[in-house]
Order: sequence, then C-alpha cells, then structure tokens
Amino acid sequence: MNIEAELDRARDLDVSELADAIESIGFECTRCGACCKGYETDDGPEPHTATVFPDEVRNLQEATEYEWRDVARPMPYGLAEGDDGLEGETFEWALQAGSCGDCRFYEEDDGGQGACQVHEDRPLICETYPFSVELGGTTQPMGEAVDSEGIVRAHECEGLGRDISREDATELARALKERAVRELEEARAVTDAYEPVEADSGTVVVHDSEGAKRPDGTPISE
Ligand code: SF4
Repeated sequence: MNIEAELDRARDLDVSELADAIESIGFECTRCGACCKGYETDDGPEPHTATVFPDEVRNLQEATEYEWRDVARPMPYGLAEGDDGLEGETFEWALQAGSCGDCRFYEEDDGGQGACQVHEDRPLICETYPFSVELGGTTQPMGEAVDSEGIVRAHECEGLGRDISREDATELARALKERAVRELEEARAVTDAYEPVEADSGTVVVHDSEGAKRPDGTPISE
C-alpha cells in the first residue's frame, strides 16, 4: 500500500471501533515508568528513544521554556559513530534523554512511582503507549505486539489487561487515530521536503517535515 492509500485508511479509522479494541484488551497506566526510561540490551544500556514531531518539540519548549536541544535530539538510527560522536543524516527527532538514559521529563519519587513533568503536553506517542495501529502498509509500528484486536496492537506493558472506562478508551482511541494520521503526514512531508545537504564530516543533519535542520533545531538554509 502506498503512503496516500495508507493515509486515507488512517483518516477513515473509526474511533469507536478503536475504542472497542482498547476496551477489549484493557489498560491502566501503573506509573511504572518503563516506557519513559532507558533500557538494557546485549550491547549495554540504551537511552530512551521515542519519536517527537517538530511542532510537538515547540509545544514542549513553550511549556518548559527549554531550548530545542533540551527537548529533542536527532534520532540516532542511521547515524554513524565518527571521531567526534555521531554523524550523518537522520529523518526524525527523538525526545531528549538525560544522563541516566531516561527521558529528560521523567521523574521518580522515593517509592519508585514515576511521573511525567510535561504530562499535559506530552507527545502523541506517549499519550497512546502501549497501543499502535497496524494499517498494513509501509510504516511499521514500534516493536513486537504482545496482543492485538483488529488493527489495534498492544506492546509490552504491565498495565495491559486492566479495566478501562469507555470514556478513557475513547479518549485513547482519538489520540491513536490522530497519531496514525500525523505519522503518515509527517513521513510524506519529510519525503517532499527532502533536499540533499552538503554536510561537513562530524556533523548531524535532521531532515524533518520542515526541511533540513541542525541538532539545535535551526534550519540549515539560515
Ligand atoms: S514525555 Fe513524559 S510520558 Fe513521554 S517519555 Fe517523557 S516522561 Fe514519559
């Protein structure tokens, strides 16, 4: 399926059907923080990595008065390890991670209960975790699904299987549909805006839906 057909499918998603699927799988956030923290791999610790759209970065900047770099970093996938760190081209932004590898907005109290400092302004990917929709096209939802109901997929999360109210399921379903549409619109706009950039070695270029940018979010054309 091409991206236009996939976008049509995403725009036609029925929120009530998505809510049925979410209700049937069940979910309640336990505030364990697993989706906000870095994680261990066979090759060592990896920082938290979640996609954030350019306008979401600006929303978070407005909410926090942080610099772009304090909110987002170039998505590391596809970048190479150079003499002075990562270099090359990438096509997405990731939420910035703190020195411990957790999302820089994640805080934990002494009892291990997690909290998002920007809960009201968190990106769509955070609002909709652990769910994604599978439209059967070119864009791949994150990770392996541990449960699915129709086109709604659920990813590993200890909050799955808990009762959810119809109101909360509908709210989540609305956000899930919005995210599916936004991800595809962003992917299409990245392709449309792409122009090769002569970049010096040792630098990173992020091609997002608004054009080529430096890691601090400034356009390269400036
Ligand atoms: S923005 Fe908030 S919800 Fe999203 S990963 Fe960071 S702490 Fe978690």
